[in-house]
Amino acid sequence: MTRMLIVGPQGSGKGTQAKLISEKLGIVAISTGDIFRENIKGETELGKEAKRYVDAGDLVPDSLTNRLVEDRLSWEDAASGFLLDGYPRNRTQAASLDEMLSRLGVSLDVVLELTADTEELTQRIKKRAEIEGREDDADEKIIRRRLELFEKETRPMIEEYASRGLVKQVNGLGSVEDVNARIMDALNS
Ligand code: AMP
Repeated sequence: MTRMLIVGPQGSGKGTQAKLISEKLGIVAISTGDIFRENIKGETELGKEAKRYVDAGDLVPDSLTNRLVEDRLSWEDAASGFLLDGYPRNRTQAASLDEMLSRLGVSLDVVLELTADTEELTQRIKKRAEIEGREDDADEKIIRRRLELFEKETRPMIEEYASRGLVKQVNGLGSVEDVNARIMDALNS
């Protein structure tokens, strides 16, 4: 049973690797970005609230995001382990996650950090825009905004997890298979 986070900047291959890890470890992968996108597409109340933030590359307010994750973690399929992809994104959300987990009487096993350089990331994100048609990927200004937010908000959160000894870093550069092999090695070590 594993309870883990996957963190890394946009375009680092998090989403793809999250799905592979989830299959290999038999745990559910929960992506807050996917949940927001589905709700925006389905024009739900949550989607309507989240849309302007997602479109601008900004973070959806913590209170809304935290509530969504708390609900999702209460589902049966998350009881035997989970992989959170794209959450938490800042120290406030990380503190909220700590509270949720302590209420559930469980704790995190590992925070997997995928690393990649900014030049490579921008190229990858543009390619993804062509393949998946994500609007927040198509605009260079919005891509830059999300990378900036990662450095400003998410980096300090990763450092905090590192100080708790939870972080394992894996180089995200290379083919999907190579990166996945590195990840599985790191998780097993
Ligand atoms: P992602 O697919 O993880 O890149 O997320 C796409 C967009 O969804 C982000 O740019 C944010 O607008 C929103 N989002 C996803 N996860 C979070 C989160 N944990 N906190 C706030 N906003 C989020």
